[in-house]
Amino acid sequence: MSDKKGFTTTILHSDRLLKPEFGALHQPVHNAVTWGYDDVQGLVNVFQNKTKGYAYSRQGNPTTTALEHKVTQMEQGLASVSFSTGMAAISSTILALMKAGDHIIASSYLFGNTRSIMQTYMDLGLDISFVDATDVQNIKNAYQENTKMVFVETIANPATQVADLSAIGDFCEEKKIIYVVDNTMTSPYLFRPVAVKASLVINSLTKYIGGHGNALGGSVTDTGLFNWLNFPNIAPIIREQIRPEMQGLTQIRKRGLRDGGGTLAPEAAHSISVGSETIALRLERACSNAAKLAEFLDNHPLISKVYYPGLKSHPQHELAAGLFHRYGGLMSFALVDGIDCFKFLNELKLVIKSSNLGDTRTLAIPVAHTIFFELGKERRDEMGIPDSMVRLSVGIEDFDDLLEDFSAAFAAVSN
Ligand SMILES: *Cc1c(COP(=O)(O)O)cnc(C)c1O
Repeated sequence: MSDKKGFTTTILHSDRLLKPEFGALHQPVHNAVTWGYDDVQGLVNVFQNKTKGYAYSRQGNPTTTALEHKVTQMEQGLASVSFSTGMAAISSTILALMKAGDHIIASSYLFGNTRSIMQTYMDLGLDISFVDATDVQNIKNAYQENTKMVFVETIANPATQVADLSAIGDFCEEKKIIYVVDNTMTSPYLFRPVAVKASLVINSLTKYIGGHGNALGGSVTDTGLFNWLNFPNIAPIIREQIRPEMQGLTQIRKRGLRDGGGTLAPEAAHSISVGSETIALRLERACSNAAKLAEFLDNHPLISKVYYPGLKSHPQHELAAGLFHRYGGLMSFALVDGIDCFKFLNELKLVIKSSNLGDTRTLAIPVAHTIFFELGKERRDEMGIPDSMVRLSVGIEDFDDLLEDFSAAFAAVSN
């Protein structure tokens, strides 16, 4: 099928066009751990990267390959590697490409566990600077001779800061450094990082791509824009054997996936793949619910602040408008002083108190007490996270039901 088909059409027909057995429309779940060869040369050729095939499922199987192909199409990239979780994708990408003494510039508004793994890598000898990525100038100021990578997210969680994505892409291109964009919060339906010259795109497949809160997964996609011949950390064997554009991702597959071992299970890959077919429909609905809810909350007397890039008052509203198809399904809010945020959350009956995001259901969580608890108050203050902040991942419920749930909770706490 031509590349000109629309986003959803491409996803729907992706598996079928890889020609699974008996004309199956979905790539089946391949539970095999290993594959047998009649002629030993066939096995040897797979090991030596001379032919495509499978040897041992930790490095991939037909079900994960089909999902990787789908993610690559969604991101309009060159190729992808899947992982057991988004965190496995992130930790493996850095582990596979960086060496002690290398410098990374990362956004200071990172997903909590990403911030935490960065600390672990600093303890192992990486030099990492955290800067406010909403302005490219801060990235430029942090640049050093040994800078090898810039790592940012599209819309930060929970305070929804938007990175200066396009300008950072220009800067990384000029300096010939790897530009990693975690696209989880926007997903390839709202934004494609290849458009801002990203080198590698991370997705937590657990979130909007899988979309139903029933499978964990992660991926890294090479956009094909980075010239790996300029990158000194490619292993000699990969330099010799692999065509230049695939050298970075091959190193991620070998050192990150094969050696790191964070392999996506075939059942999970299948669930994510089926879930991904409706991403456009789900996100349109979630974004529309979120936009209406953000307006409602923003005008409510018991709310002191709403963090949502779709609001005109958001500091990066214009930036977001220029980058994203819509403003996403995630927002945060803070209640006015004197209203107990736990009591308010407990009054919500439809909205679920839960830590996931990108689910079909609306989920709420008090941020400072949970996902950002371990960071401590000082770092939370640096990251702009007040104690009363509640993060909301807006689902695809009928909007009037969400409105009724919030209205009832407000009424209950104002008594
Ligand atoms: C959830 C999330 C991750 C981690 O993904 P998991 O699949 O939960 O490991 C990474 N980055 C962002 C922005 C996320 O929201």
